Amino acid sequence: MATKKSSKKDEKLFAEFPNLYKDISKSENEACMAFAEEYKAFLDSSKTEREFTENAIDAAKSLGFVDIETKEKLKVGDKVYSSIKDKGLVMAVIGKKPVSYGLNILGAHIDSPRLDLKPNPIYEDNEAVYFKTHYYGGIKKYQWTTIPLAIHGVVYTKDGSKHTFKIGENESDPIFYITDLLPHLDDGQRNMKSSEFIPAEDLNLVIGSMPMSSKSVKDDANASKEPYKAWVLKYLYDNFGIVEKDFVTGEIEIVPAMKARDVGFDRALIAGYGHDDKVCAYPAIMALFAQERPDKPCVTMLTDEEEIGSSANSGAQSVLYEHFLMEICAKTGDGSFDMLKYRKVIAASKMLSTDVTTGYDPKYASVFEKRNTAFMSHGLKLEKYTGARGKSGTNEATGDFVAEITRILDSNKIAWQTGELGKVDVGGGGTISAYMAKYGMSVIDAGVPVWSMHAPYEVISKIDLYYTYLAYKAFIENI
Ligand code: MN
Ligand code: MN
Repeated sequence: MATKKSSKKDEKLFAEFPNLYKDISKSENEACMAFAEEYKAFLDSSKTEREFTENAIDAAKSLGFVDIETKEKLKVGDKVYSSIKDKGLVMAVIGKKPVSYGLNILGAHIDSPRLDLKPNPIYEDNEAVYFKTHYYGGIKKYQWTTIPLAIHGVVYTKDGSKHTFKIGENESDPIFYITDLLPHLDDGQRNMKSSEFIPAEDLNLVIGSMPMSSKSVKDDANASKEPYKAWVLKYLYDNFGIVEKDFVTGEIEIVPAMKARDVGFDRALIAGYGHDDKVCAYPAIMALFAQERPDKPCVTMLTDEEEIGSSANSGAQSVLYEHFLMEICAKTGDGSFDMLKYRKVIAASKMLSTDVTTGYDPKYASVFEKRNTAFMSHGLKLEKYTGARGKSGTNEATGDFVAEITRILDSNKIAWQTGELGKVDVGGGGTISAYMAKYGMSVIDAGVPVWSMHAPYEVISKIDLYYTYLAYKAFIENI
């Protein structure tokens, strides 16, 4: 059997995926640190999908992006966006080539694991008042006790008006809190499985512990029965105009009240809430914002509900994202729409599913297969497939597509790494990539390694963030 020899003399026999801090130049290091500062500020002001969407739209508008609805026709260099129910976003910069060559897409999700309020959340128990919660996404419940928590979200009152909350982020704000048992009395808890010792129904947030004065409650039967809850209800009414029943409309999210901070003496890493997946969403918007007249149309989509299956009308399975792509096809042509032509555009399109992965953690070495895992600070990880136990549920990228991407990254001198999530028998995970692949689009997962993924305070590397930005930019400009 004849094998074609590589013509390149400098081809390395062994694969190497080095730590990128080793050979970083001074100017690169400065650019990396500056990018990290901008990311931290964006992350702190964008803890929920609604806030991320709003802030991304503001940033886009300042660069000349307009709502696609306002455009009759689209031409080279036009910048458009569409809000997906205020909780997701899709944006595009129109390219020089016609859409028939396909679109270059970056797709991240902007929801993160958290606690949501139940529809009837407030109760009083022995002089304390609580919000009952329902956790969202895969969390380790015990991690959410005894940390400062903030309340973000919206409630609609009967007259249809929207009330926005963000309490616990300013130094002068109160925070909210879930108690845990003192070690002196935790014999019962100590021998339980970690998934059991904080039952979901105990993830209740302390929101008050002061009674309404006896003078004020004396004429109100409910208030005299539950004076502590009455204090909170009166506060909510006086300050926000909402009553207990209004919470049924609520989309209120409990998130850590902590700001992103550098980790370690060398400040190589950042701890923060919601790196999954905002650490990919942020470079995905910045890569798009760097485009003026790209070769092909470039798109960044930011989806909601990924952590719970992408199935709501703001999730990646919603047709609303498709509507935007359809509009691009129609408005870059003669205004008419042809379904077969659209399907062919999508099949010719190429996408990075920009979602995080795990970083190898020496403390938990037993779950990783070291030759096939991403390391912190070794750059963007290309993950040919995800899935669980035998690649179940994955979208596996084709080899030629992987070759196309690595060729672009290598020729632009952008380091990358590869691997799987963990050992095959240990577990697995999924991303939005399969929802796009079903239309024939070429899709591969490509994201930043994270330590303590899904914890209230996750860790990423600044240099991974920076190289991921460079990689996303090189992808949409060159693929
Ligand atoms: Mn994710
Ligand atoms: Mn996740």
